[in-house]
Amino acid sequence: MSPQQYDAIVVGSGAGGAAAAYKLALGGLRVVVLEKGDHLPTDGSTLDIRRVVHQGEFLSREPWLDGHGRRIVPEEHFNVGGKTKWYGAALLRFAESEFAPDAAHGCRGWPLALGELAPYYEEAERLLGVRFIDNEPDLARILAHLQRQSSGWDSLPTSRRMAPRPRTSTALPPPLTSRARPSVRFSHN
Ligand SMILES: Cc1cc2nc3c(=O)[nH]c(=O)nc-3n(C[C@H](O)[C@H](O)[C@H](O)COP(=O)(O)OP(=O)(O)OC[C@H]3O[C@@H](n4cnc5c(N)ncnc54)[C@H](O)[C@@H]3O)c2cc1C
Repeated sequence: MSPQQYDAIVVGSGAGGAAAAYKLALGGLRVVVLEKGDHLPTDGSTLDIRRVVHQGEFLSREPWLDGHGRRIVPEEHFNVGGKTKWYGAALLRFAESEFAPDAAHGCRGWPLALGELAPYYEEAERLLGVRFIDNEPDLARILAHLQRQSSGWDSLPTSRRMAPRPRTSTALPPPLTSRARPSVRFSHN
């Protein structure tokens, strides 16, 4: 594989890398995605809560060094699709307030506002098939309890990636034209 064949190299195949590769490919660039992990098994083991949660079988054991040179093993997943294959599928937008400076935690404000990101949120939610669902009964009970205690709490439906969608759904993203069809080469070691 010759590097000259590509216009862009994306490292990592999780949500971040995949989104970047998708946009670059839509823009007509030849893109290669490099991934250090392997494909996850499809034998049902990734659905086994004992192996996944209790034994941490699919977590990386790779040690990192912290800022003081001490070895730590962060909870990382190195596999095709990254942590995005393991996440809980709750896809929340930031709140307006989260873009503002937060002096209590020494954080500056963002250089852009929520409104500027709105079209990108909309595109991502459409592509990922995000739907808003009522909160699960246990969560709804906790929220109702909090709201009774303080008016500062607001309860909203949860936005989640739901799959599969019916093929007849009008919420499906428009098909890509052949000119715009992304072409991403994928490589892992
Ligand atoms: C159990 C769990 C539940 C979660 N639930 C939610 C949720 O409900 N909602 C939510 O918003 N977030 C959730 N998260 C967080 C979310 O999964 C991550 O924020 C998100 O997946 C990060 O995407 P990413 O592309 O930055 O990283 P990743 O998806 O981790 O992708 C990074 C990729 O880069 C690869 N890589 C790393 N180093 C190299 C290298 N040197 N060379 C090549 N490839 C490399 C990795 O193998 C990996 O595939 C959850 C996370 C976990 C672990």
